[in-house]
Formats: sequence, C-alpha cells, structure tokens
Amino acid sequence: MQDYDIETLAVRSGIHRSQFNEHSEALYLTSSFVFENAAQAADRFCNNAPGNIYSRFTNPTVTAFQERLAALEGAQACVATASGMSAILATAMATLKGGDHIVCSSGVFGATVQLFSTVLSKFGIETAYADGTQPSTWRAAMKPNTRLLFLETPSNPLTEVFDISALAQIARDGGALLAVDNCFCTPALQRPFELGADLVIHSATKYLDGQGRVLGGAVLGASGPVMDAVFSFLRTAGPSLSPFNAWVLLKGIETLRIRMEAQSRGALELGQWLESHPRVERVYYPGLASHPQHALAMRQQRSGGAIVSFVVKGGREAAWRVVDSTRMISITANLGDTKTTITHPATTTHGRISAEARARAGITEGLLRVAVGLESVRDLQNDLARGLG
Ligand SMILES: *Cc1c(COP(=O)(O)O)cnc(C)c1O
Repeated sequence: MQDYDIETLAVRSGIHRSQFNEHSEALYLTSSFVFENAAQAADRFCNNAPGNIYSRFTNPTVTAFQERLAALEGAQACVATASGMSAILATAMATLKGGDHIVCSSGVFGATVQLFSTVLSKFGIETAYADGTQPSTWRAAMKPNTRLLFLETPSNPLTEVFDISALAQIARDGGALLAVDNCFCTPALQRPFELGADLVIHSATKYLDGQGRVLGGAVLGASGPVMDAVFSFLRTAGPSLSPFNAWVLLKGIETLRIRMEAQSRGALELGQWLESHPRVERVYYPGLASHPQHALAMRQQRSGGAIVSFVVKGGREAAWRVVDSTRMISITANLGDTKTTITHPATTTHGRISAEARARAGITEGLLRVAVGLESVRDLQNDLARGLG
C-alpha cells in the first residue's frame, strides 16, 4: 500500500481477513496456534516456514497493529511491546552491551531517566544528558563508546524542540544509532525516519490509543540486525503486547490524524489566549512565534502538537489555585487523551528530583502543563480562567 496517503494507511493497512471476511479487524485472543502435523510444527519453530506459533511473539492482531504503525511511520519493521517503557528497554537491550554509553536529551520522560540510571547502569551502561537543544552540546557529549543517542522531541513539559537531522548526522559520525521517542507528535505530525533517525519508539498508551484505555508500545526501524535483535529480545524476555490491547490501538490509529490535528489546533488557540492573559508569565508551545525553536518546529513537525505549558505569576500557590479551580479538566499526570489533563510538574512528575536539578531543568513552581483534548477551547479557557483570576 506504499502509494497511499497516511490518512488512508491509518484505516486500510495491516488488514488480513480471515475465512469469515469480516470488515472490521478481527481480535485473535489466543495464546497459541495449532499445527497441521509434527513436520509443520518443526518448520515453524526452526523459522523454515512462516506462521504463528505462540502469542508472546506471533499473533495476527498484534501483527496488524505492527504493520499499520510501520506504514504510518514509513518503517520496514515494527515490534510491538507491552508498554512504552518496555519498548525503550527492548531498544537498549538490542543495541547496547556492558561498557557502552548513551547520550540522551535532557527533560525526557521520568521513567526513562530511571531506567537508564538505575537499571542499565547496573550492567555497566552509562548515560550522559546533553544539556540543551544545540547540536554542538550533543557532539561534545559523545564518547568513543557512545552507541545510542536517545531523543524526545518536543520535550516534556517545556516543549523544547531538537533538530533530528543534525543529531542523526552526529550519531552517524560517531558510529551510534539515533532513537527518537515520537510519543508527543506521532507519525501524524512528525516522521523521524525522513529526517535520518535509525529507530522510532512509541508509548502507544498516549496518542495512538488516544482515549486513555490501554498500555502499549512499539519499536520501529529498517529490517536488519537491529530490529532482529529487538524482536529476539521480545521473543525471549516477553514484554509482549496483548492482542486485546493491539486491537484497541489498531482502531485508535484510524482516527489519529484527525485527533492530532484537532487537538493541535485547540492547543494553539489555548496557547495564544494564555499568552495574552495578564496572570501568565510565559507560554511554552512550539506552534507560537514566541517559542525559541518555532522555525525548527515548523520545519520538522506538521503543527505544534497538543501539549501547552505555561508559567503562572505567583509561584506554586497561584499554580495550585489554577489546578484546584478547574471543574472539568482532569487533574492527572497522564496525557494523550481526548479529555484535557492538567499537571503541576514541580510537585508531581518532577517532584522526586532535587530542587537544584529541577531548577536546572527549568521546572519552576509556577509551571503548569496542559495536554489539550477534544473539548471546546472556550470551555477550556473558562475552566482555567477561574483559577487565574
Ligand atoms: C508515557 C511515556 C513513555 C512511557 O510509556 P508507557 O506506555 O507509560 O510505558 C515514554 N515516553 C514518553 C514520552 C511518554 O510520554
């Protein structure tokens, strides 16, 4: 289906109808598959014949999800995982060994930092955090044993935008791979492979589901030894996506483009309104001309995305007042839902790091993050205006 546009691929790719000719994608809830005879079983186990064996590593519903996401990202191969975190773990296990080094963007997802600093470090894999968006700081952080550059763009919660093409070049020069966590933009707004990324990682839990129902993840890349190693890790270690979750995600992807565009449009409108509000000190949103990397964001993304962060005048007390005065917006740390969510990063997602580390990361006491959903922007403004005073 390579000639089709992304909207079409989102609803038409990855379909393999059963003997019943169902129109909607079938859900195969089965842990194993039966063989015609002993010889067929032997052939499948030895990879001499294609076919499903056991749902830890082969299931038709999971395969359909993998094919659809691969079509959207423009990747040859996709391995689905139980969650975004297991996708990141699988990537590390497939590409690194003891003694290797990672260079990671600052401001990545908290559990990713934990995974690198407490789990991978036990096996002799060290991580350096590139301080800032300038490609030169990444080049300076590279060591002879750097094998992986890991990037989230835009970052959370300050929406810093990183130059994927420039970092792909730095990775190539250093003999390392560039992995992009494309959770915030999804292929609907940003396609990292076109900019030179080697691997794309997803927390499907967020916008791919888009309705806050299931956990899931994926690693994508070119067919070859790296993706074979990702699959081999999944097959052996087992952080597999359940067929049920794969089916929910498959259907979620069908509306991805229109959701991302609508939520992005809402975020831009809300960002503009916040920027003009006298009680707001600063707004972080890549779609606004005031964003430091606005030009870069507009080059590598179709739009600014659905996450808007802003600093309320008056520090923690004022920020908490905004949170506590909402009647509709959900007070939760999750994002990527059709329901708008609000978070105070300094006391939740970034609450357990030291005050100095928080200050260095730019997470001030007045900062709030809003993940814009599909409600009307007027209702969102009214809900926030109450606490802004
Ligand atoms: C949520 C998230 C993850 C982790 O995904 P889970 O599905 O919760 O394991 C990784 N990266 C980013 C950017 C996220 O927002």
